[in-house]
Amino acid sequence: MSGKQLETSVIIIGAGPAGAGSSFFLSKYGIPHVIIDKETFPRDKVCGDACSGKTALVINRANQEWLSEILNDAQTFMPSWGITFIAPNGKPLDIPFTTNRTATTKAPGFTVSRMVFDNFLFSKIASPYASVYQGATVTDIDKKGDKVVVHMLHNNVEYSINAPIIIGADGDKSMVRKKFLSEHTTAKTSAIGLRAYYEGVTGMHHENFIELHFLKEVLPGYLWIFPLPNGQVNVGVGVLSERIREKKINLRQQMLDAITNNPQIAPRFANARLVGSIQGWGLPLAMHRQPMSGENFVLVGDAASLVDPFSGEGIGNALYSGMLAAAAIKDAVEKGDYSGSFFSSAYDDVLYKRLGDEFRISTILQKLCNYPRLFNLVVNKAYKSESLRNTISSMFTDMDLRAQLSKPSFYLKILLNK
Ligand SMILES: Cc1cc2nc3c(=O)[nH]c(=O)nc-3n(C[C@H](O)[C@H](O)[C@H](O)COP(=O)(O)OP(=O)(O)OC[C@H]3O[C@@H](n4cnc5c(N)ncnc54)[C@H](O)[C@@H]3O)c2cc1C
Repeated sequence: MSGKQLETSVIIIGAGPAGAGSSFFLSKYGIPHVIIDKETFPRDKVCGDACSGKTALVINRANQEWLSEILNDAQTFMPSWGITFIAPNGKPLDIPFTTNRTATTKAPGFTVSRMVFDNFLFSKIASPYASVYQGATVTDIDKKGDKVVVHMLHNNVEYSINAPIIIGADGDKSMVRKKFLSEHTTAKTSAIGLRAYYEGVTGMHHENFIELHFLKEVLPGYLWIFPLPNGQVNVGVGVLSERIREKKINLRQQMLDAITNNPQIAPRFANARLVGSIQGWGLPLAMHRQPMSGENFVLVGDAASLVDPFSGEGIGNALYSGMLAAAAIKDAVEKGDYSGSFFSSAYDDVLYKRLGDEFRISTILQKLCNYPRLFNLVVNKAYKSESLRNTISSMFTDMDLRAQLSKPSFYLKILLNK
């Protein structure tokens, strides 16, 4: 074996949405970087496979043509126009993502398997500024003076890569996080999710609404059924880890029970077939603000615990944090300042200024899901009231409106029929 030494400005560990997002914007700023993934693309990632408007927003900022590719290929990226919430009492409520739709409006969300989507993102990393290593093993990460040194094995060659900054985009089990932030574990706020693909499920919404079933047994989590372009559906369940421990929930059994016995769900699976196996993975939720950077390092996506505490959405936040991390690094490179205090204000503070309210509201909503009666009340009233349905619909885009959901006065008004 021979050894190679590489010098670069930034090393990114992980080429999922967070790593790819970081790389797109570093390339835009002309900053040379090395990006490393242990897998070889296309690779799978356990997920619900639903992408929201935030995903589209970041891709559009990275390159408008990439978003056009997505929006013009409905066979691959299936447009989704809304959500069906199924209350604990079994009542469904259809909420479109947008209330002012014209003939040219594009769907704000889409579904696509992560095997396909992450490979799409990975293919866009190619740039004169990005050196990409996939199927590579990071054997160690060191600090040497004012540089980070990553030791990597790729195609039987040992590499030693030096850079003043490392981006941890290596997901829920992040090795970069463990190396630099070992004292801040997220176990208490994390959730566990299972995912399965099925064929032959009936009764899907004609405009590909994604379905969230708030089953009593898994609150404040939910079971989801998301349509996919190839006729398959993504079915899964996500529950807080502490709830699983407390109530000794067998998540797999819970999901299979719902598919076999739940009166709303079971008939639709009468002739369905499981494709592949049921798989699980962690969702590091953004329920408490935690440090996401320090001297010579920045964490993005799941490595920074940025999954929405209510919806479980993490792809959009992974891309978004990659975009903000790259902007902070651009300033750091210009100033030659790689200190913890610099990244804390240029990255952590900026991210929390933009996403902090969203995380706070979602944390409250997640807690409110512990009260099934409240959930039933809102769905029952919205079922009868078009204006309430429109208000909830507008909450997807209007944060001030969404904040109403976390206030007691909102429920009081509903109760009093105002
Ligand atoms: C069951 C479930 C359902 C979900 N459903 C949704 C959903 O419908 N919509 C949504 O928006 N979000 C969903 N999420 C969350 C979403 O999957 C994550 O938030 C998102 O994948 C985070 O992206 P990331 O790039 O930070 O991490 P990842 O997607 O995990 O990517 C990390 C990358 O780092 C690589 N890596 C890891 N360790 C190393 C190493 N040591 N060396 C080199 N490379 C390494 C991995 O191979 C991987 O490619 C779900 C999550 C789960 C578990």
